[in-house]
Amino acid sequence: MALWMLNSWPLLLLLVAASQQAWLPPVEDVVQLETKGYQALSGSFETREDNNSEDNYRLPNNTVPIAYNVELWTQVHNGTRNFSGSVSIDLQVVEASNTITLHARQTENFEAVLQSKDSATSAPISLNVDYELTREFLTFKPVDSTISFAKDSNWTLSINYTGLLRDDMGGFYISTYTDDSNVVHYLATTQFESTNARHAFPCYDEPAKRANFTITIHHDPSHNAISNMPVNEAESSNGKTVFLTTPKMSTYLIAFIVSEFESTGGELNGLPQRVFSRKGKQDQQEWTLWSGLVVEASLEKYLGVPFALPKLDQAGIPDFSAGAMENWGLATYREQYMWWTKETSTINLKTSITNIIGHEYAHMWFGDLVSLKWWTYLWLKEGFATLFSYESNNIAFPEWNTYQIFHVSDYNSALINDASISTPMSHYVQTPNEISGRYGTISYAKPASVLYMFKNAFTDAVFQRGLNRYLTENQYNSTDEWNLFASLQEAADELGLKLPAGVPDIFSSWSTQAGFPLLTVERNYETGTFTIKQQRYLNDKDAANEATWYVPINCASASNPDYRNTTASHYLLKVKELTVSDVQISKDDWLILNKQSTGFYRILYDEENYRLISQGLLEQPYAFHTRNRAQLLHDAYRFVDTGRLSQATLFQLMAYLRNEDQYAPWSTANSILTIYDTYLRGDVNYVHFREFVIELVENIFNKLGVNEIPGEHYLNNYLRVTLVSLACQVGSSKCYQQSHKKLQDSLNNGAPIEPTLRTQAYCAGLREAEDATFNLVVNNLLNSNDATDRSTYISSLGCAQDADQLKKFVAYSIDETNNLSYSERTSVLSAAYTRSEAGLTASLDFLEANWKAYGDLGTGTQKPLDSALRGIASSVVSESQKNRLNALVDTVRTNGAEYLADNTETAVQANMKSNFDWLDVHREPVINWLVAYRTNGSSSLSASTFAILAMFVTLLLYRFN
Ligand SMILES: [Zn+2]
Repeated sequence: MALWMLNSWPLLLLLVAASQQAWLPPVEDVVQLETKGYQALSGSFETREDNNSEDNYRLPNNTVPIAYNVELWTQVHNGTRNFSGSVSIDLQVVEASNTITLHARQTENFEAVLQSKDSATSAPISLNVDYELTREFLTFKPVDSTISFAKDSNWTLSINYTGLLRDDMGGFYISTYTDDSNVVHYLATTQFESTNARHAFPCYDEPAKRANFTITIHHDPSHNAISNMPVNEAESSNGKTVFLTTPKMSTYLIAFIVSEFESTGGELNGLPQRVFSRKGKQDQQEWTLWSGLVVEASLEKYLGVPFALPKLDQAGIPDFSAGAMENWGLATYREQYMWWTKETSTINLKTSITNIIGHEYAHMWFGDLVSLKWWTYLWLKEGFATLFSYESNNIAFPEWNTYQIFHVSDYNSALINDASISTPMSHYVQTPNEISGRYGTISYAKPASVLYMFKNAFTDAVFQRGLNRYLTENQYNSTDEWNLFASLQEAADELGLKLPAGVPDIFSSWSTQAGFPLLTVERNYETGTFTIKQQRYLNDKDAANEATWYVPINCASASNPDYRNTTASHYLLKVKELTVSDVQISKDDWLILNKQSTGFYRILYDEENYRLISQGLLEQPYAFHTRNRAQLLHDAYRFVDTGRLSQATLFQLMAYLRNEDQYAPWSTANSILTIYDTYLRGDVNYVHFREFVIELVENIFNKLGVNEIPGEHYLNNYLRVTLVSLACQVGSSKCYQQSHKKLQDSLNNGAPIEPTLRTQAYCAGLREAEDATFNLVVNNLLNSNDATDRSTYISSLGCAQDADQLKKFVAYSIDETNNLSYSERTSVLSAAYTRSEAGLTASLDFLEANWKAYGDLGTGTQKPLDSALRGIASSVVSESQKNRLNALVDTVRTNGAEYLADNTETAVQANMKSNFDWLDVHREPVINWLVAYRTNGSSSLSASTFAILAMFVTLLLYRFN
């Protein structure tokens, strides 16, 4: 299934990484986690003991399901939650036994009977039912204790039961929506992954226990029912919908929806597709329908395996917990990931919708056609779905350049999250809670990145053929990672790809141990050779570790800046060090490893190579691949933050940005520069940082401006949002003026603002707005009934810089005459203090005078004053701010301790300390570099010139401080 997506995540990723550093686990923990991973390598966990011990959550293997006949009765149309069900399971006995064990959850009143399929004349056998809550085992045993089931005998187990539609968006659940006439509508729908099918009907709820399903639903004739398969028209009647039998499939992929949904439909290459959602939204489904058609065709073409079912539907559910779910033939979504209109929706949402469809549709092959042997290999379906969410979009919409988005989101998210405590991709889990815990970066973004690495290192031809083999040989069956490795090996052999080790050895070094390598590159400038050392990249650079991988390598240089062929030219063979002597790099050439940044690792170069790269970037930025430019910045930032590289090297690399016009590098740079802006905005030398960023951003900002340009490159839409945000954040007057005019034109003359630019236009437009504009936005806020619009207005008003406007704005939080809700009131201050020094000052002024009234906003356990003080502490970066906040906390503690939590003061001090710790280490080198850079007329600085200048400037600062 698809996880919840975040919109501004590159910045969030870096911030999270910075804040997580203190939580690095001791080395022993890491080793222990990796040891668990090696159990996977031995495969020992698969040979499970069938001892039925209480800590064994796996079903016994004595019987297996062949086919299910599921019949359900629901009255959901009037809001009734009770339902009843009947399931008949054809099963085979594989080990002689006298019990049959299934899963069940939150269902009751079981009545069961067993009928032999081998002897039609034999009498039905009455069964006793036993339910064990912890493992959710439903066990049937003949009432007559002399009866047992012979090996290879075949039976039909029929169970009647009752249940309640859940209201927590799991299992078989009820969902509601209110239409434009204020009428409430009810529907029943399903979400079974990972262990919730057992709530709708008793079943063998493990992914490898595939069977055929025939589903029948009885419902009110006012509602319709859809499921994985088309309706069996001959068997259905008014209020009874019977579906055609599915191929053999996993229980968690079954879905059915009883609703009043309406659909739109289309067909491509003979496969009909429909999109269902509540009535009245059909005109907003067009993009989802069209995307679905082309994405499915793109996947089918790449994989060379046709979609297995006769139809494919998508449905938008009003209440939905995940982002989306890949039920075979019936993918389900949150409604907001299904509706899109040109007039009101952003370009980012358009791309996200198609990306999510790519994810769910890729599952139709990875997970649905070929399922997992067990949840240990969750990555085997989620990694492919994540990778193909981009690959399918890249095939369908090559002009989107979607791998730039992959790079700044999933790829870097994986690098960040796998740099401290983490488990291997393959990791044994048993209980439903343990299984739920696997839905994160290590099962999604990391395997997508590792698969992408081998797609490039082995060549796309080998990868594509390997996947075709894997899907064809294992269709309607379940696999583990070794099946995948075998198919890739087969393809490599067939296409004559020579590898230095077997695919299973190479790939499992990535899937069965946590983390990824840091490659340290040292060049020999005399001989033209270079040496690569590997170790696990950990945020704590001093943590010892012995991990090694099979690392695919390739390189480009100033004399050979050709990035087209991303096949591995060399491998580090699970050894610590490799000297590459068959590639000669001349002394004055820069060297870049990892062409197109397709390998999943970080690279730390020697100082001289960084100097050559910086010089090369300034002179010929396009001699470096776009994603290599982005990754040079990202790696350098992480290396600076973890004490591996100097600030000077990072800033020297960033100096080339004045010639950068691509999204991925700017997105990365924006994240880095915004973090520096937060720390430095209270500094007396802030102007140097500000001017540096304005100089970098000006060229490209002048080209792109604040308005969309018809026919421009797709990613320019993303880039513009990034640039407007950054340029206005550091106070570019051009950004202020253009944004202000755009906002004024909209407020005064009704000129429409492009949806993609709306948030930025309001925030940027209010930074230096006169009172009239400010007041118009305030009026819009107070008169709007749209929650999203109101949130945009509040957030934007916090961007104001004028002291009087800010004073007025923060006071709205306690003004009882306005119509702000509690959550809106408590979002006012943070909109101001996180944005600027002026916003922080206004918040402190306000709370010093009104802390009691602000504290009184909360009722019960709500402590808004406590949250505000902690939040402000995170934005404090100067001594005077610190003194004021400390005094305020003292006052509240003495006169209103009830507004605080027990640990408020500790948290406030810790938040401020973390900022001052950063400043202690990083402020001086950054300011020194910036002063020297600007003094030197913005020309490039060599490392040695910099060292001299830095020393000189330090002396100057020291004397004048
Ligand atoms: Zn998924």
